[in-house]
Amino acid sequence: MKARLKFDKQRTAEPIISTVVLKTKALINILKAEVDESAGEVLIEVPDDKAESTIAAFKQEGVAVQVGGFIEISRQRCIDCGHCITLCPVQAISAEEDLTVKIDQDRCINCGACVDCCPTRAISMLQ
Ligand code: SF4
Ligand code: SF4
Repeated sequence: MKARLKFDKQRTAEPIISTVVLKTKALINILKAEVDESAGEVLIEVPDDKAESTIAAFKQEGVAVQVGGFIEISRQRCIDCGHCITLCPVQAISAEEDLTVKIDQDRCINCGACVDCCPTRAISMLQ
């Protein structure tokens, strides 16, 4: 399971992830982290059997947790050019039989490359 954690600016200096690891014994893989003085956002991957307890532990620590649904494609804007498919570093985007593109949210590492490459700005990263 992948989840996005959002920290308040007061909490960015605290070892919250370590606390949750100790509490849940979950192997938390940090895929991406953007932390500055004002706020923090971290994308993590957790074994499915530890997902529920890990989410609960982060929430107990006052961290906002979003599971899945990170990248969205507007069907109205997409022209099925395929740029995003070739550019995605983890092959999370593919074309269906009718050539419409779809995103595998479980594979996506939230890098944002597809958002930047799309000529029609059809891809957005949910905040
Ligand atoms: S955000 Fe990155 S990993 Fe996710 S679908 Fe786009 S290019 Fe692929
Ligand atoms: S790059 Fe944009 S327009 Fe092209 S297939 Fe991907 S989402 Fe559609």
